[in-house]
Amino acid sequence: MAIVPQPCARCGAEIPAERLEALPETMVCVKCSQEIGGEFQVIVTPERTSKEGSLKKNYGGYTTRKIRKPIKRKDEV
Ligand SMILES: [Zn+2]
Repeated sequence: MAIVPQPCARCGAEIPAERLEALPETMVCVKCSQEIGGEFQVIVTPERTSKEGSLKKNYGGYTTRKIRKPIKRKDEV
């Protein structure tokens, strides 16, 4: 599968194919990703395994969700 270089959603620079290969979901270049502190934000939510108000500690697992931060074009900021 050939990787087509894509323009960065923030600054318009071309995202290198190596980055797209490593992170196919990415929409920004390395520089912008660093500037915004990462393109994705990971939300960790404890799974509720015990009843509300229970004194038992919740040893349940955690659900992680990865959300994409809103990306503004640099020239629109
Ligand atoms: Zn960029």
